[in-house]
Amino acid sequence: MKNMLIIGGSDAGISAALRIKELDAQADVTMVLADAYPNFSICGLPFYISGEVQDWRALAHRNIDEIEKHDIRVLLDHRAEAILPEPKQVHLVSADGHYIEIGYDKLLIATGAESAKPPIKGLDGPDIFFLRWMADSFAVKSFIDQNHPRRAVIIGGGYIGLEMADALTHRGMAVTLMEFAPEVMTTLDPEMGRRIRAELTSKNVRVVTGQAVQAIVRTQSGLVVETVSGDAQPADMVLVATGAKPATALAQTAGSDLGVGGAIKVDRTMATSVNDIWAAGDCAQTWHRVLEQYAYMPLGTTAHKQGRVAGENMLGAKREFQGSLGTQVVKVFNQVAAGTGLRDKGAAAAGFAPLTAELSVWDHKVYYPGAKQMVIRITGDRQTGRLLGAQIVGPRETEVSKRIDIFATALYHGMSVEGLCDLDLSYTPPLSSPWDPVQMAALHWCDERKQRG
Ligand SMILES: Cc1cc2nc3c(=O)[nH]c(=O)nc-3n(C[C@H](O)[C@H](O)[C@H](O)COP(=O)(O)OP(=O)(O)OC[C@H]3O[C@@H](n4cnc5c(N)ncnc54)[C@H](O)[C@@H]3O)c2cc1C
Repeated sequence: MKNMLIIGGSDAGISAALRIKELDAQADVTMVLADAYPNFSICGLPFYISGEVQDWRALAHRNIDEIEKHDIRVLLDHRAEAILPEPKQVHLVSADGHYIEIGYDKLLIATGAESAKPPIKGLDGPDIFFLRWMADSFAVKSFIDQNHPRRAVIIGGGYIGLEMADALTHRGMAVTLMEFAPEVMTTLDPEMGRRIRAELTSKNVRVVTGQAVQAIVRTQSGLVVETVSGDAQPADMVLVATGAKPATALAQTAGSDLGVGGAIKVDRTMATSVNDIWAAGDCAQTWHRVLEQYAYMPLGTTAHKQGRVAGENMLGAKREFQGSLGTQVVKVFNQVAAGTGLRDKGAAAAGFAPLTAELSVWDHKVYYPGAKQMVIRITGDRQTGRLLGAQIVGPRETEVSKRIDIFATALYHGMSVEGLCDLDLSYTPPLSSPWDPVQMAALHWCDERKQRG
């Protein structure tokens, strides 16, 4: 019986563990995690802090009893500190300081990512927060509950910063969002980011862009967040959300090579450079399906799939991860922004001849009450007509998320933009049009391609 050891108990780790047990009920599976929250949805943390999800326990995809019912041994509060590939051993230290050595036949590293710490002076303090782990969310929540802060500054206008601007406004705070780039949500084109900014300002969030924060200064009346260009924003609490970096320290003790973005180098079977060790999730690089090269794109969706593939391969299969497209969606107050695939710059850098066309379109037939406009941008290759990427921003009711998934599915299958128009999509007047908005945007892209040559 093979001894399967998994370090990390979140999306990638649990997906691997469940897949192994699904395929081989006799396999001996142990999952070790540094904290006490196996299989929790950290994607839900902003909604716990906002109060929309009241009980943190509800964030568990499965509780520990359910996991153990699958005959998966779970070791909570044990941090793996070193991997010795020769005797095939991992050294663990428990929260109360005890050292344990544990052997393995096959090992998965699924240690995730850590909050990036930007070079800002004064980042430490009881009122300055990062958001990655359950413990981070408990710290933010109890600070708010006990101190009733009125003013919050969020550093970083990516999807976590945006969700937290929504969450902290929900908690009654005056929120300022500070972003180094010229526009928020830099994973989308600035034209789309501007729409999200408009939503933020309409909800009284102050948005400061194009300015680098250089220091958080502690004064008698609270914190002051200072930018290089002289903006000084007072705050009672600060949340730093400037991205994630792969947690690779453990993998490096095994001598595992690092790849794109400093993440663990894996091939498409999720095997690392070290024998009998796999890696999956935010700690590892990912295969980009359109670029056909490795990239670093830490997302829960990818972590689940990579973990599942790794689990199969730990049992001896040779399955390949089919690739990421970076498909992403975020709700900011009443607007939703989503993207998949490439945008102009990335596409041009990869040797494509990108053409991007934008269309504002009603989500369903206007004669039926409640129709709302959404904006769809399609990027395709002007020479071959191949679909390369898409972005959508629209009110929550316009099904942005599921419409971006149509594009993601088409991208997965290497379809042309024109091919989208041939899809047999559903229609009823309260929900769509005979040509779905996705198809209207595709027709528009084809017209633009003809006109622009
Ligand atoms: C606030 C927030 C919102 C998000 N929202 C979304 C979203 O809406 N959609 C989306 O797709 N993605 C989202 N993400 C990203 C998503 O949560 C991650 O991509 C996903 O959690 C990665 O899973 P993972 O298993 O690779 O790693 P992680 O979730 O980072 O888990 C790592 C695991 O490893 C354990 N660990 C780490 N080091 C050690 C060690 N040395 N020894 C033992 N155990 C260790 C940890 O305890 C943990 O169990 C969000 C992330 C955050 C922080």
